[in-house]
Amino acid sequence: MIQQLHSLLENNNSILITTHKSPDGDAIGSSVAWFEFVKNLGKRAFVLIPDEPSASLLPFLKDVDYLIFEKNEQQAIELLNDYQLLFCLDYNAKSRVGKNMEVIFEHYTGIKIMIDHHPNPEDFCELTISRPNVCSTAQLLFDCISELELINKLNVPAGNGIYLGILTDTGSFRFPSVNKSTHLALAKLLEIGVGHYKIHEAIYDVNTMDRLRLRGYAIAEKLEIIPNLPIGFISLTLEELNRFNYQKGDTEGLVNVVLSIEGMEIAALFMEHKDGIKISFRSKGDYFVNEFSARNFEGGGHKYAAGGFSSETLNVTLSKFKSLVEELIP
Ligand code: 5GP
Ligand code: MN
Repeated sequence: MIQQLHSLLENNNSILITTHKSPDGDAIGSSVAWFEFVKNLGKRAFVLIPDEPSASLLPFLKDVDYLIFEKNEQQAIELLNDYQLLFCLDYNAKSRVGKNMEVIFEHYTGIKIMIDHHPNPEDFCELTISRPNVCSTAQLLFDCISELELINKLNVPAGNGIYLGILTDTGSFRFPSVNKSTHLALAKLLEIGVGHYKIHEAIYDVNTMDRLRLRGYAIAEKLEIIPNLPIGFISLTLEELNRFNYQKGDTEGLVNVVLSIEGMEIAALFMEHKDGIKISFRSKGDYFVNEFSARNFEGGGHKYAAGGFSSETLNVTLSKFKSLVEELIP
């Protein structure tokens, strides 16, 4: 597969990079990294992102040529076929780019390449590099670059993206998916001059008063534990989010606070949006949330970190969750 990737890169000069809806640090980091890396190989490159990332991720895109699909649909569709290769980074199914952006797969006539670490990839790309054991897509890109024997083409701008992706998808290098090769990749990034402390600051030291108050309120007033089960959750209504001037990214990591309670094995966060309820699931040990979310909440993801959606009201969604939680107990 790396051989195939090698010849595709050798024989094509224009590269379009795509990632999933509600892009997280790994989605943006991987996109930035691959953009900068292929530019450094002398390619023409462009990034297409389904919707606006959270404010803390925007600075990472400052030197990247990109378009937010949601805001520029027509322009995005018109440019698709200016690119010979289309990379699908950090997602394993067409639907993950969202209902609107999914049309790109009807229009695009070039070669699609998936590089991703989510389990059970859908078969829609000409080349699929899927490694669910790797902690992040960013690390997987690093591994691919090493295996392509092109590590000398990894510059600081690409390295910043890789560091960002690994940092955010591993809970700051602490999840079970982290291993020796993660730290070897990080060591290499520091060796080439990536400013690790600047990336931590840009992601974690950017609280606003509203964000801190929302988190305080959510933990103090809205955290519930299901009696006799190691399951806790927080739910936030649209009114509550508005009360604290909710901005994308303000609840990042909140679900992990629930999971950090001693004895807790499963945590969930339910957030009311205009079009429905967005759910985040986290778990540990023998408890897996991705299949539960796929079965019941139109979602999926990793064993220990999954997302979901419900078009019912918040109360109906919470009742449904409570009535189904036994499914989560192995
Ligand atoms: P989050 O809770 O941070 O939104 O999502 C956690 C993880 O679950 C993400 O890294 C992503 O892999 C996955 N995920 C989130 N939402 C969805 C979804 O709607 N469908 C699928 N298949 N996976 C999702
Ligand atoms: Mn990821």
